[in-house]
Amino acid sequence: MSVTFELTDRCRCCGSSQLVEVLDLGNQPPANCLRLPGEPKPGQVPLALAICNSCATCQLTATVAPSELFSEYVWVTGTASVTRTFSEIFAREVLSRWLFLGGNRAGLPGLVVEVASNDGTFLAPFVKKGCQVLGVDPARNITTHAVANGIPTLCEFFSQSTVDNIRQENGAADIVIARNVIPHVANIHEVVSAIEQLLHEGGLAVVEFHYAGAILRDLQYDSIYHEHLFYFSIETLRSVFLSHGLHAFDVFESPLSGGAMVLLFSKEPCSPSKRLMAESCAESKSRLNSQEVWKSFGNHALSHSKALASMVSDHAEAGPVIGYGASARSSTLLNTAGISGNQLSVIIDRNEIKQGSLTPGSDLPIVSFEDGRAHLTDAKSVLLLAWNFESEIVEDLRREGFEGEVLVPLPGDPRVI
Ligand SMILES: [Zn+2]
Repeated sequence: MSVTFELTDRCRCCGSSQLVEVLDLGNQPPANCLRLPGEPKPGQVPLALAICNSCATCQLTATVAPSELFSEYVWVTGTASVTRTFSEIFAREVLSRWLFLGGNRAGLPGLVVEVASNDGTFLAPFVKKGCQVLGVDPARNITTHAVANGIPTLCEFFSQSTVDNIRQENGAADIVIARNVIPHVANIHEVVSAIEQLLHEGGLAVVEFHYAGAILRDLQYDSIYHEHLFYFSIETLRSVFLSHGLHAFDVFESPLSGGAMVLLFSKEPCSPSKRLMAESCAESKSRLNSQEVWKSFGNHALSHSKALASMVSDHAEAGPVIGYGASARSSTLLNTAGISGNQLSVIIDRNEIKQGSLTPGSDLPIVSFEDGRAHLTDAKSVLLLAWNFESEIVEDLRREGFEGEVLVPLPGDPRVI
């Protein structure tokens, strides 16, 4: 089944034609294109990372048509307990900034809108605090679930017409949240402009993104997949929002995605917090926005992938190996290293939507934890593909009585525990 895509030689943020490739991962199927046995295999699309020589934004060279990626999305936010815990912290942090922005105003925000709200996990704590909320997400299978759980959600792509409708029905929003969605949209200026349009004059925009600093620090090349078009630093994301009149004034960390940042923007200019100034300073010291640093990352990623392939093959010779975690990221890790049914028998994943399907490219069957028990009994080793949930998963495996080796691909060099 072919996949519709376009290659770009222009930066999607500043329009410059000076995109320099820093890592080529070859042709791969989109990471969330799971298929049922008997269905055609998904087509392959070039997967290469480039940095803009003008504005320093890292981005992919290929754009896959969004309708092929997001209409039946398979990532359900609330699957992991660490995510549910962070959703409570996130709401507290955001509400404290909301009060700060209004000169420590009293009272709750009027309307909180989340773009790409998924199953509503991150809006639920705002509901508990008594805020009016509205989610927007194009994946019908997941928005149905959100609505059933009491989170009003519009099933559509977020656009200017969504904003016009919300403003007409509910008025302007006091807070707009966009978690891990800005890096996924090719028409980034349209979406940022729509967020600005939706916000009340004293409003707050909250943007979570997988942080380029963490990607470089831990060699997280597995976060490179077609849905994830941009790899932002604080400075590069700040510039995009500033061009639409939104001013970054604070930042806090998110433990998700193996290291993310939450950047806060106001419509009214506002002095940056000490924390934001310190993070910006650390970015320039580490030369995070330089071509040399990203080229070195690209070279390390390719040598890591070879080392991982050889480690998994060696273990497969000693006895059965199973995978754990059929995330989008695992798709890049497996396809880059060429790991398939020759090395792994199955991949365990707790997300029911994925169970029974085959992984894209590597074609491995995804099974539930319960169905994986029999494989786990025979397995000599487990390849921990969802390595960013290491402690939670290793604890689960040991509780089940698994005494074999756990192969942890990242962060840094592959290791065995
Ligand atoms: Zn640029």
